[in-house]
Amino acid sequence: MKTIIEPFRIKSVEPIRMTTREERARLIREAGYNVFALHSDDVLIDLLTDSGTGAMSAAQWAAVMRGDESYAGSPSYYRFRDAVQALMPFKHVIPTHQGRAAEAILFDVFGGAGKRIPSNTHFDTTRGNIESTGAGADDLVIAEGRDPANLHPFKGNMDLDRLDAYLGEHGASVPCVMLTITNNAGGGQPVSLENIRATAAIARAHGKPFFIDGCRFAENAWFIKSREPGQQDRTIPDIVRDCFAEADGMTMSAKKDAFGNIGGWLALNDDALAEEARNHLIRTEGFPTYGGLAGRDLEALAQGLSEIVDEDYLRYRIRTNEYIIEKLDALGVPVVKPAGGHAVFVDARAWLSHIPPLEYPGQALAVALYEIAGVRSVEIGTVMFGRHPDGSETPAAMDLVRLAFPRRTYTQSHADYIVEAFGELAEVKDSLTGYRIVKEPKLMRHFTCLFERL
Ligand SMILES: *Cc1c(COP(=O)(O)O)cnc(C)c1O
Repeated sequence: MKTIIEPFRIKSVEPIRMTTREERARLIREAGYNVFALHSDDVLIDLLTDSGTGAMSAAQWAAVMRGDESYAGSPSYYRFRDAVQALMPFKHVIPTHQGRAAEAILFDVFGGAGKRIPSNTHFDTTRGNIESTGAGADDLVIAEGRDPANLHPFKGNMDLDRLDAYLGEHGASVPCVMLTITNNAGGGQPVSLENIRATAAIARAHGKPFFIDGCRFAENAWFIKSREPGQQDRTIPDIVRDCFAEADGMTMSAKKDAFGNIGGWLALNDDALAEEARNHLIRTEGFPTYGGLAGRDLEALAQGLSEIVDEDYLRYRIRTNEYIIEKLDALGVPVVKPAGGHAVFVDARAWLSHIPPLEYPGQALAVALYEIAGVRSVEIGTVMFGRHPDGSETPAAMDLVRLAFPRRTYTQSHADYIVEAFGELAEVKDSLTGYRIVKEPKLMRHFTCLFERL
């Protein structure tokens, strides 16, 4: 059989409240044309993020009942620790309430004024946690990773020559090397096993600890299996173990590839560093056998980790993205290619070329997609990155709209509905207008700013 079906049945459902186009036009106007201000029950298909929005399995809900809420030494912690170590063999596993809490602890230890930390591309919370200590965050992804149309199979790869030169030049001020798999801020693009190993070797040669931001480790392993020569016959857990074998530690958001609604961890090998990290954890998150989590959360994550490496799931997961990208491509909608792991990115600047970047073509597209179809996406472009600390505003490098897919939550007919929405958008796109921001906060304006339609 050719058809790749959802490899699950639905046991518990959440109704979608249907809305009319007239209602949605009013709702988004009342929200100041900012999708973050919408109530989520006014959204038909919510593709704002893939973080913590996935569906838990029956086995995860069963595990929740097993959660032991002891303050110290809960068996739920040990099951969680063993599940992490089965895939990522680090000596110390420190639970946190989210990925950013693990980052805050790591850079509390490693950061500080004058330090610099390289990565392929730092995710925005990683960058925030580095910069808030006074350190600098540098992105050294390969050039192909910055070109939306380039078909390189591993566009998340670290630029190895640049990393080597960077460590040669700035070595004294670099406390560690990071690598994000998949490269979220770079379109969910994967990093090859060869590149992970080479990055580790360069870090080692310069005497620097190597940390992986492993949020989408399973999707990355699927890309390695399907795109990297020599990896086709290996199991996903084997590939995952290889990815982490050469690292000194990792940060993780369990809201991504651990099927959690909440959670994260910091894992590492160095005893002294682990002790320092646990002391920080006790001050900010909780006792080291629960971090910022309930015992039931730890149980759900332990079970989720055994499900996320399932090949049938990963095949369906990645195929959903490819399917939508193929259909949008056929409609003439410019999309970032090849398909990444967790999201489809539409090039709004290219598609709505009559709207100048400073009138926010990505916002115009996200608003129109909501009005026409009730689909919530998010602008990743000039609204998000255009305002600078000195108050000036310039166009971002790209104006993209991201459709991020919650795990195991939507079905094939939802995918077809999204494609149909783009078909309708194609008919009216030339009549869409830009926007003007009428109120914005000083920092991270995209979450709360208000727009007026031009
Ligand atoms: C989501 C994410 C984080 C932060 O994790 P939270 O759980 O949201 O705090 C860090 N890095 C990457 C690559 C992410 O996708």
